[in-house]
Amino acid sequence: MAKYKLEYIWLDGYEPVANLRGKTLVKDFPKFPTLKDLPNWGFDGSSTRQAEGHSSDCVLKPVASYPDPTKENGVLVLCEVMLADGKPHPTNARATIIDDPETWFGFEQEYFLYKDGAPLGFPKGGFPAEGQGRYYCGIGYSCMGDIAREIVDLHLDLCLEAGINHEGINAEVAKGQWEFQIFGKGSKKAADEMWMARYLLQRLCESYGVDVEYHCKPLGATDWNGSGMHSNFSTKFMREKGGKKYFEKLMEAFDKYKNEHIAVYGPDNHMRLTGLHETQSIDKFNWGIANRGASIRVPNSFVPAGYKGYLEDRRPNSQGDPYKIASRILQTIKTVPQK
Ligand code: ADP
Ligand code: MN
Ligand code: MN
Ligand code: MN
Repeated sequence: MAKYKLEYIWLDGYEPVANLRGKTLVKDFPKFPTLKDLPNWGFDGSSTRQAEGHSSDCVLKPVASYPDPTKENGVLVLCEVMLADGKPHPTNARATIIDDPETWFGFEQEYFLYKDGAPLGFPKGGFPAEGQGRYYCGIGYSCMGDIAREIVDLHLDLCLEAGINHEGINAEVAKGQWEFQIFGKGSKKAADEMWMARYLLQRLCESYGVDVEYHCKPLGATDWNGSGMHSNFSTKFMREKGGKKYFEKLMEAFDKYKNEHIAVYGPDNHMRLTGLHETQSIDKFNWGIANRGASIRVPNSFVPAGYKGYLEDRRPNSQGDPYKIASRILQTIKTVPQK
């Protein structure tokens, strides 16, 4: 027997953006525990806006587990929050995702690293004199600073060691702004791993005195880019059958439900979806081939392949919940007959 440190991780009940929470359970196991070895646990929902004080117990149900790369015998235990009667808690968006092992999602998470209330590398109380331009995929101390790359590279290693399908990194357009991509096969997989990747990034940043700023427009109405979380998706039907007719019907459905999509694509998105800075306006829906100013970008390969492949919804923002985003996309897809 050895003692294992199980870090139970869940999303709290804060609105409009849930926070990650975690607490540790130490338990003996004869060997490294798998998901089915991990018991349900509980927490005080009155401290997380998930319950009233007089009946405060919520249930943590493990749904995925990952080795914790920073600890000996450590396990990261991703949980859904359940009510005492076994039903999903109203804050549990994961439980609303249609189960489909053949749906694939790829999320591109943009974010800022913040220190003392400003993006890493900003001069005190002001903006970098030269404005945007050199930072996107930039190299060198004068534009990239000294600790940001160490953080993003360490984050990549942590994700890979935990078995998360982290696909890549790029420095983004604004100073202090970065992106990473997570891809997963199965309707919940990429969203699970996105939450775990966010967890690992935030926990790593603690020791640098740095915060991860996910707000979609942290620098307000300036000429500095905001952050998105482009959501790439494909179903088996889209990849293998597709076709122009189906694509057009699908886009009609995305247009019809545009308000329902925007409602779960992250708060304050009107600040970001302005029609500028490679975005479409928040109240319009359009699609376009290789068009970075469209709501949905159709990759170049899609039409020559016979309207087959994946699509990129560019509207979700960096603070969006990948569970809610995946859930909404699949609900809209479901309204369109596959023929
Ligand atoms: P860009 O910045 O040009 O939009 P990225 O490489 O940052 O491109 O992101 C593309 C995303 O699309 C990746 O997350 C990738 O995993 C995802 N993707 C690629 N193929 C598929 C597919 N068939 N279904 C769903 N997502 C996909
Ligand atoms: Mn990208
Ligand atoms: Mn990007
Ligand atoms: Mn993109």
